[in-house]
Amino acid sequence: MESHARVVIIGGGVVGCSILFHLARFGWKDCVLLERSELTSGSSWHAAGQIHTISSDPNISRLQGYTIKLYQELEELSGQSVGLHSTGGFYLASNKDWYDYLKRERSKARYMGLDQEFISLEEVARLHPLIDPKRYIAALWDPLDGDVDPSGVTYAYAKAAKKLGAAYHTHSAVIETNQRADGSWDVVTATATINAEHIVNAGGLWAREVGHLSGLNLPVQPMEHHYLITEAIPQIVEREQRLPAGIDYEGNMYFRQEGQGMLLGTYEPIATPWSVAGTPQHFGHELLEPQLDHIAERLQIGFERIPALADAGIKDMINGPFTFGPDGNPMIGPVPGMRNYWVAVGVMAGFCQAGGVGKCLAEWMIEGEPEIDVWAMDIARFGDYASPHYGTIKSTENYERRFMLTFPNETLPVGRGQRTTSIYDRLTAKGAVWGDSFGLEHALWFDDGPEDAHENPTFRRSRAHDYVAREVKAVRENVGMIEIANFAKHSFKGVDARRFLDQVMAGRVPATGRITLSPMLTPKGKLYGDLTIACMREQEFLVFGSGAAQEMHRRWFESHLDGFDVAYRNESSRYHGIGLAGPNARELLSRISRDDVSAEGFRFRDIRRTFVAGVPAILTRLSFSGEQGYEIYAEPEYQMKLYQSILEAGEDLGLRHYGARALMSMRLEKNWGVWTLDFRPDFTAAESGLDAFIDWNKDFIGKQAAEWERERGPAQRLVAMTIETDDIDVCNDEAILKDGECVGYVTSGGYAHHLQKSMALGYVPTALAVDGTALEVEINGEMYAASVVAQPLYDPAGGKMRN
Ligand SMILES: Cc1cc2nc3c(=O)[nH]c(=O)nc-3n(C[C@H](O)[C@H](O)[C@H](O)COP(=O)(O)OP(=O)(O)OC[C@H]3O[C@@H](n4cnc5c(N)ncnc54)[C@H](O)[C@@H]3O)c2cc1C
Repeated sequence: MESHARVVIIGGGVVGCSILFHLARFGWKDCVLLERSELTSGSSWHAAGQIHTISSDPNISRLQGYTIKLYQELEELSGQSVGLHSTGGFYLASNKDWYDYLKRERSKARYMGLDQEFISLEEVARLHPLIDPKRYIAALWDPLDGDVDPSGVTYAYAKAAKKLGAAYHTHSAVIETNQRADGSWDVVTATATINAEHIVNAGGLWAREVGHLSGLNLPVQPMEHHYLITEAIPQIVEREQRLPAGIDYEGNMYFRQEGQGMLLGTYEPIATPWSVAGTPQHFGHELLEPQLDHIAERLQIGFERIPALADAGIKDMINGPFTFGPDGNPMIGPVPGMRNYWVAVGVMAGFCQAGGVGKCLAEWMIEGEPEIDVWAMDIARFGDYASPHYGTIKSTENYERRFMLTFPNETLPVGRGQRTTSIYDRLTAKGAVWGDSFGLEHALWFDDGPEDAHENPTFRRSRAHDYVAREVKAVRENVGMIEIANFAKHSFKGVDARRFLDQVMAGRVPATGRITLSPMLTPKGKLYGDLTIACMREQEFLVFGSGAAQEMHRRWFESHLDGFDVAYRNESSRYHGIGLAGPNARELLSRISRDDVSAEGFRFRDIRRTFVAGVPAILTRLSFSGEQGYEIYAEPEYQMKLYQSILEAGEDLGLRHYGARALMSMRLEKNWGVWTLDFRPDFTAAESGLDAFIDWNKDFIGKQAAEWERERGPAQRLVAMTIETDDIDVCNDEAILKDGECVGYVTSGGYAHHLQKSMALGYVPTALAVDGTALEVEINGEMYAASVVAQPLYDPAGGKMRN
C-alpha cells in the first residue's frame, strides 16, 4: 500500500467512490480510497436505485441532473455497466397543494436547464397502464428519471478512477486518523499507515464512527427504510417497453419497474432511527428484519393507486438503513475548526446525488471553491448546537417528512428551543411566533398574545400578513424594537488586524469608531460574504454578518490567518442585543443613554463601547429597516435589563416589537439584498451591485477577477421589481420571463407593507436591468406582470436613515 497520498478517502460506498473518480478526473491522481470490506458494504448495496432530479434546493436539483447525465459516460469510461434505465418519470399530485408545489418545481426547472413538463392524466395512463389516473389531478414529467444498478454504479466510479490513476484498497479498515503538526494526517489500518495531506470522511453508515477517530461528533443518523419487490405482474410481462418511474407525494411512495414486477418504497409516518448508539463494525452485508406493520397503511394507499400491486405477490421485502442529516441534505466540505479534514456524509439519495457531491468536493479541494454555491450541502451550515442527539431527532423528523409538503412560511417543530436568549419567555408572552436559524430562536412576527401565536402554512399570504403590516407601520411612523442576537459577530485583535481585514475584505476598512459595509470575495471573484466591519480601536475590529453563515465565515477567516499576527474569534454568542428603528428611535435611546446621541454627536455608521440602560454595550448607528436606527449589543446576562429599560422608555413613543418578517419587508423597499438569498457564491460583486463598496485602491482576495469583470461588465445584474398581484407574493426561486422566455429567477421577495406593493429581487441579463423594464414572474404557475425599479421606492436618497 502507498505510504503517502494527497488525499485518503475513508469509505467505498457510492459517495467515496464518486469523490475518488472526480479527484482523479480533475487531475489529482495521487489519491487513495480505503474500504474496510468490499466496495458497497454500507447502505449502497441495498438501495432501490431510483434516480430523480427534484430536490428542495435548486442547486442540489442541478447537481442531481449532473449525476444522472454522468451515468452513460461513466459506463463508457469504466467499462462497467451501471444498469441505467432512462425510462423517464413522473411526479404525481393528488391535491391542490401538491399541484402548486409541482408548478413551482416546473418554474425552477425553467432556469436550471431541466426539461420538466406537465403531462395529461391520459398520458400518465398511456405511459403507465397500472396506475389509476383518477386518483391524481396533475403529473410533472422528467425525462431524466429512471433507475440504476447501485452496485454497478459504485464499481463504475471506482474502476473509472483507477483507470485515471487513482487507487482503492478493500479490506482496509481505517482504525486511527492522527494529525501531524504540519496539518497532514496519518491514516492507519491494521497493516499500513498512509500519510495524507487531506482526508475525507465518506463513511456513510459509519460516518459517526469515522468522525470519532478524529474527535468529531457528526449529527447524522441512520434510519430504517423499507421497499418491496413484487412477483411478476402479467401486464408488465406482456409489455415490451419498461415502465416509467414515479413519485406520489401525498401517497408517500416511490415506485418503478423491477424485473417483471414492481418496486415500491415508502417513508413510513413513524420512522425508526437505527443503532442510535453507533453503527456496529460487523454490520454490512445483512438487512434488517422487515416491519410490515410500520408500512401497512402506506402500502394500502399504494394498492389503491396502483391496483395491479394489490393482486401481485410480494417477492421480497427490504429493510435497510441509510444515513440522514438534520435537514435531509448532504453535509459536505472542510469541517470548520479542523485542518485538512473533509466530510461527505448524510447523503440520503446517493444515486441521485453522489455524482454532484463528488464533483463539488473535488473542485473545492483542487480549486479552493466549488463551481456553484453549495450552501445547502455545506457542513458549515451547522454548528456545535447540532449535537448527535439533535442529529437523531431532526433526521427522524426529516425522514418522516420526506414526501410531505413544507410551505415556504413553515417552520419545523422538532429540535426547537435548542438555543434561546434570556428574553425568550418575555417575547413569547408578547405573542412572538418563532423561527430558528443556526439553532437560535428568533421572533418572526408578533401576534396579539401567546394564545393565538401561530402561522398557517401556505403558498399564499398568510395570517401573519396584517400583523407584519402593523409592525412595519410602527417602525416607519414611530419606533420598533427587534432582538438581534442572531447576527454573527467576528472579532479580530492584534497588530495585523487591519492588514488582515484589508486582505480578506474587498471594501474599505474603517477608521476607529466607524463602520463600513464590505463584500468578501473568493479568488474567482464570487461573493463569499456581505459584512459590516467596525473598528473599535486600532488593532481591534468587530465584523458583523449573517448568523446562519457564521461557521462558514469562521472557516474562511481561519484558513487565511497564516502570516498575520491576529487573534480571531467567533463571538456571535457573546453578544446578544436589541435594534431600535424609526423616527422616534433617537428620542428613545436618549432616555436610556448618557451619551450625546444627537445626529452630530453619534453619526450614521458610528460605533462605540458605552453604556446603554446602565449596562455595558456596543452601540452602533445602523438599521436594516432604512430608518433612523441603532443596534445595541450587550452580553447575554445584560439583555433582560436592556430590554426592560427599552420597554419602559418607549411606552409613550409608540414603541412596538417587530420581527424578522417586518425587517425583510422593509429592506425590500430599499432594494437591499440579503446573504444566502440574493448574495451568495453563485454571484459576483458586480452582478450583485456590491461592487459599489469595493476599495479598488488596495489589494484584496478576488481583486483580479473583480477587475476583469469591471472592465467587461457583468452579464447579469440583481434588480428589484414590483409585481402586479392581489393575494400572493414570491417566496424565492420563481422564474423571471421576458417575452415568454426564462431570463432569470427570483432570489427573494415578499410584500412591501409600507409601499403596499408585492416586490421581488432577482438576477436578469444586464440589458434588462433598466428602470421600467417590463418582465413577468411565474408564481404557482401563473404569470404576473413585473417592472424593474432601479432606485429604492422608499426614501431613495437615504435621508431618513442618515438624519
Ligand atoms: C432501502 C434503501 C433504499 C434506497 N433507495 C435509494 C434510491 O432509490 N435512490 C437513491 O439515490 N438512494 C437510495 N438509498 C440511499 C443510498 O443507498 C445512500 O444514499 C448511499 O448508499 C450512501 O452512500 P455512502 O457512500 O454515503 O454510504 P455507504 O454506502 O454506507 O458507504 C460507506 C462505506 O464506508 C465503509 N467504511 C465505514 N467505516 C470505514 C472505515 N473505518 N474504514 C474504511 N471503510 C469504512 C463501509 O464499509 C461502506 O462501504 C436507499 C437506501 C436504502 C437503505
